[in-house]
Amino acid sequence: MRQTDFSYTVAKFGGTSVADYQAMQRCADIVLADPAVRLVVVSASSGVTNLLVELAKGQLTEAERLDHLAQIARIQYQILDQLQRPAQLAADIDDLLVQMDKLSKQRLGGLANGAISDALLALGECCSSALFAELLRQRNEQSLCFDARRVMRTDNHFGKAEPDLTALKQLLEQHLQPLLQANRVVTQGFIGADSEGNTTTLGRGGSDFSAALMAEALQAEVLAVWTDVDGIYSCDPRLVTTARPIPELSFDEAAEMATFGAKVLHPATILPAVRCGSAVFVGKSRAPEQGGTWIRKEVATSPGFRALSLRKQQTLLTVHSLNMLHARGFLAELFAILAKHRISVDLITTSEVSVALTIDDTGSSGSGASLITPELKQELATMCRVEVTEQLALVAVIGNQLATTAGIAKQVFEVLEPFNVRMICQGASPHNLCFLVDAQEAEPVVQQLHRTLLDD
Ligand code: ADP
Ligand code: ASP
Ligand code: MG
Repeated sequence: MRQTDFSYTVAKFGGTSVADYQAMQRCADIVLADPAVRLVVVSASSGVTNLLVELAKGQLTEAERLDHLAQIARIQYQILDQLQRPAQLAADIDDLLVQMDKLSKQRLGGLANGAISDALLALGECCSSALFAELLRQRNEQSLCFDARRVMRTDNHFGKAEPDLTALKQLLEQHLQPLLQANRVVTQGFIGADSEGNTTTLGRGGSDFSAALMAEALQAEVLAVWTDVDGIYSCDPRLVTTARPIPELSFDEAAEMATFGAKVLHPATILPAVRCGSAVFVGKSRAPEQGGTWIRKEVATSPGFRALSLRKQQTLLTVHSLNMLHARGFLAELFAILAKHRISVDLITTSEVSVALTIDDTGSSGSGASLITPELKQELATMCRVEVTEQLALVAVIGNQLATTAGIAKQVFEVLEPFNVRMICQGASPHNLCFLVDAQEAEPVVQQLHRTLLDD
């Protein structure tokens, strides 16, 4: 049973969709065309988070730091100027730019500091949400900008904080939901706050995840993700020119695609939708009339081969130990150490005395290799010999009944004949067949597979 008698659509607009004033106007057209859209979640304007990430590293020269700040100010002022610089908004944006200056100065030459970094990264979304709420008001809409940190309670793992779903639901019902009747509420994706009020972020691309969690907390009927492509394609269209948008995907298929590298959705986006049963739509804010992809529990077709995903910068960890031979508990011990170091394992294959696994680096800015710290290596060395291989790419073939249909492996591996396949995982899920290849071979592999398995 839904708790509300009104069915909400939560609309999320990504960075390119709110890149400038004209792009924001197109988002406003989409919002105003649908009375069900009461909550709007925005990313930072395109390019801003990348600049903030550089500032947060604290390794720029003073001239570079000032140049980065000037680039961000230019992006925000272009929008502010076209909004005719309302006094309060201009003061708010200037205040956010001053905070960027201060925090980036604090980061200069300093040791890594997650709290300062996240406070800095969050400012991009703070700017775009304030600007977009004003733009809606100028289109005669009752609208306000709501600070997501009031509801998006997380733990304090800066850079990749984990939301507390119970707190989010309770805070959202208390502080945000009552505003939705009278206002179109604009809030920030990507950002949250821990229980002490420190700003946190959910990892790169996290605005999709924020929107999905808010849609779940609101029990929204639809989560609409507006981006720069007209749907989820059979492969990243930047990689395969013949890739085509898929009109309808099941939750399972979409979750596999997001998990295995289809950047169009943050990997964690689908789970909240599955839990609350809302449909997810992915469309292009520049051309909403082109339609997009609907992701639902039940779909009309379930083809064997649906799509391909590619995840670069993969790190393979191979551990060898003779103690594994006929032993009990070796894997449990290995996984306990990895869990203690907050490493989430992705693919895994085992032999009698070795285990090979890839590391899930979802949302982190670096590759999995940066998660393998000297402390982790030291601890693993007490029980096994460890080998780390970088420069790999993970290719996922996504579809249905892949593990139970005769001939699937043959079709895939015939294409792979000229390439060196480093590791293969099949059988755990009916929806994927994954393997690792050398990074430089990844694109030809994916292009060749698409030609054979998915081109008409
Ligand atoms: P936003 O800023 O709106 O969140 P992103 O850049 O995060 O947008 O995601 C959109 C991009 O995802 C597309 O431009 C496209 O290059 C990439 N992408 C990767 N895989 C796919 C896919 N299977 N279908 C569509 N886009 C994909
Ligand atoms: N602005 C953040 C990023 O660029 C979050 C997002 O866009 O989803 O990673
Ligand atoms: Mg994104």
